[in-house]
Amino acid sequence: MARILVVGGSLGGLMAANLLLRAGHDVQVLERSGRSLEGRGAGIVTHDTLRQALREAGAVVDAGLGVAVRSRVALGVDGEVVGRWDYPQVLTSWGRLYTLLRDALPTDRYRLGAQVVQVTQSDDHVDAELATGTRLHADLLIAADGVRSGVRAQLAPAVTPVYAGYVAWRGVCDEASLSRRTRETLFPHFGFGLPEREQLIGYPVAGSNNRLGLGERAWNFVWYRPAAQGTELAALLTDADGVHHPEGIAPQQVSWRQIAAMRQAARERLAPQFAEIVEKTAQPFVQPIVDLVSPQLAFGRIALLGDAAMVARPHVGMGVTKAGDDARALAACIAEFGATPAALARYAALRQPIGAAVVERGRQLGAYLQARSRTSSEPVAERSVEAVLRQTAVDPLLFGHAFESPAPHASAA
Ligand SMILES: Cc1cc2nc3c(=O)[nH]c(=O)nc-3n(C[C@H](O)[C@H](O)[C@H](O)COP(=O)(O)OP(=O)(O)OC[C@H]3O[C@@H](n4cnc5c(N)ncnc54)[C@H](O)[C@@H]3O)c2cc1C
Repeated sequence: MARILVVGGSLGGLMAANLLLRAGHDVQVLERSGRSLEGRGAGIVTHDTLRQALREAGAVVDAGLGVAVRSRVALGVDGEVVGRWDYPQVLTSWGRLYTLLRDALPTDRYRLGAQVVQVTQSDDHVDAELATGTRLHADLLIAADGVRSGVRAQLAPAVTPVYAGYVAWRGVCDEASLSRRTRETLFPHFGFGLPEREQLIGYPVAGSNNRLGLGERAWNFVWYRPAAQGTELAALLTDADGVHHPEGIAPQQVSWRQIAAMRQAARERLAPQFAEIVEKTAQPFVQPIVDLVSPQLAFGRIALLGDAAMVARPHVGMGVTKAGDDARALAACIAEFGATPAALARYAALRQPIGAAVVERGRQLGAYLQARSRTSSEPVAERSVEAVLRQTAVDPLLFGHAFESPAPHASAA
């Protein structure tokens, strides 16, 4: 039995911790937030491998996982259907997955208010220092501390997120507040709106208290809009008091002026069903879209996992699935090589090329949304309605052989 520290108690850290605990290790999750993360987050697209990772992590995966849809529709600006594709999928929410994974982990394995400020290692162990000054020792440390990972900043400071030239406006709207037309035309489907050089996707998710009944669900939307780096992006990330939040603005801080302008654009550019949803969403929030690729995932006794390692644009719908695949591969490598640097090196060799390919796929799918200068001669990639319907957030097996064996040893994990 090895002692393993997991920095970050979000979905990636929880999947890794549950898998490693079930493999017999002494695992401790260190989460900097002082309060449970329950109640945060929005919608998550599921794929087969995510359900597999959840089951292996000990989560209960049943019909309560999320809302099942059978097809996708694209709506034109007049609200009529302009494209359709049958593709069954289960849509869940970040909060639901967090609860399932927390329930699977004994409470004494999850430490809130534990912010790691420094990591150090020697030949035979690794240390984590907390903001309180406490030092913890372990055989391995897994950094699942997200896109702005402090562990990665310490080990590979040159690896930073790169802004993609567009943002995502996001939100969740109660089904009960919507008109019958919007409910009937959208809720049975994964929906798309495709104004020029922009893209809105949305789907039904469980409503409050994880309710899945008719009228009790909610609609999760993500609206991608170009925003040039500089003044345009800075304005979106500046709150109503004039404070700029360059590393990301919290939902409650987004300026009401920006929200009003976004709602006005929705009335002009989107189908009335989507405009109604945007109008009636109580707290829309905005996130810059970034790419992140770490060329190195293993540093002796420390490994990067999930968003700390790679972040792909959300068009691939794989943030959580990729973190689950990372966690399964990591657990399988530790089962094979023990809690050693060799296990982490093997994990990195397996996962780095796959993660980089997922990021590249996200770049391709989102290239046409990037802000360009008016004088740019760079050609704008065109995407047909059919291509967007068939390529967005689909099972990775549908988009290339590079993804066929994400975790070769996973079945043994
Ligand atoms: C609250 C929250 C809500 C989210 N909602 C959505 C959503 O609705 N849809 C979606 O697609 N994706 C969402 N994400 C992102 C999604 O969780 C990730 O893309 C995916 O699960 C892989 O993430 P991760 O676990 O590797 O990193 P993240 O989910 O980014 O989690 C990193 C965790 O590390 C913790 N942490 C950071 N630094 C330290 C430190 N120094 N010491 C200790 N802990 C630290 C953070 O508090 C955080 O809990 C959300 C993330 C969070 C944290």
